[in-house]
Amino acid sequence: MRRGKSGIDTENVQNKLKNLLRSPMVELATLLSDYLLTVQYGSSEDDLRKTVKYINMILTRLPDLYDSRFYFDSYLIKSISESWSRGSLRISNMIVPAYRQNWGHETIPIPIMDQPTKYHILDLIYIPCDEREDIPSLLDYPWLIHEMGHHLLSKQGKELIDRFTSYYKKVLSSLRLRSIADRGIAKTRANAVIDEVAEYWCPSTNSKSWVQEIAIDAISIWSCGPAYLSAFQFEHSETPDPFLIEQAHPPVELRTVALIQAARKLEWVQFISSLENMQRQWQFQLPPENRNRYIAFKNVEMYKGLIDATMNYCEQTGLPRFYKADFERIQEQMNGNRIPKEYIDLIVSAWIINKNQTENVYSEWEKKTYTALATYAIQ
Ligand SMILES: [Zn+2]
Repeated sequence: MRRGKSGIDTENVQNKLKNLLRSPMVELATLLSDYLLTVQYGSSEDDLRKTVKYINMILTRLPDLYDSRFYFDSYLIKSISESWSRGSLRISNMIVPAYRQNWGHETIPIPIMDQPTKYHILDLIYIPCDEREDIPSLLDYPWLIHEMGHHLLSKQGKELIDRFTSYYKKVLSSLRLRSIADRGIAKTRANAVIDEVAEYWCPSTNSKSWVQEIAIDAISIWSCGPAYLSAFQFEHSETPDPFLIEQAHPPVELRTVALIQAARKLEWVQFISSLENMQRQWQFQLPPENRNRYIAFKNVEMYKGLIDATMNYCEQTGLPRFYKADFERIQEQMNGNRIPKEYIDLIVSAWIINKNQTENVYSEWEKKTYTALATYAIQ
């Protein structure tokens, strides 16, 4: 094996990049090859070692094969990106599906060598996939919108964060005002709780924050309507502890009530009863001694204000909204046996058929539709 500077195996990574150049990921392969080349001939051994490691890290995250499933998922991501870019938003064209155990989103910067403060950004959307040959469950695809929402808010969420920040400050100062009469231990306790509320609800474009997660649930129902409610319920119905408080994730119970609030705002009230039932049943799991603390963190004012700010953001940025009238258009398309080619038509058709037909009819439809759309995407 030929090794370059001081035994660093650049040949291996170069070969991998050559393979990538022959895949649909040409643009990324070119960026990474240029990056490697510049470091190879212009930087220290230490920098080269780090660069080879970094490129390898990126390569291990990419799909290991570029099959019809990859084309299908890339096609849907493109369909969402194009539709979301019709208003004032601009969605990157380097968002790539990759496969893992769970849904997720990751942003990876790729340095531009002659511009030290600038980066190309690669966005990966992780899609759960056990066996690549399996037909994907199209009922899960509202989560693709959710993950695209993470991309959207981490890049273009400032407007929403600014809008929510002024509201957040108002809620905190009114909480502080209410605790002013407390004395001694009661005052210390009340202040400690308010400090924690401030931390959990801190407006941030960070993908691991309560604010971003709750806003994205609202964006998802804005974009695909009740199909998101069903996907959300399916995902969370078995949650072991819906009241678990962590900095990185809001409690599932809080996400559920916030989502119900968003559904009410968007006039999807007739579709919320099963989510409401799920949320009601959970109440028995919350020990009475934890109730007050939980209610303080959950903070009705915060989540209602955040939902309002998110609806406003969607409206202002021209993010396409799913309306009741869209059901008729999609139903007509289904009656004409046409393959739904837009992401929204696909997600909603799957939801309608699953709701109204037997399991067999649904899986036949899913198989037929996936195969047709994957074939169309490859062309
Ligand atoms: Zn999320």
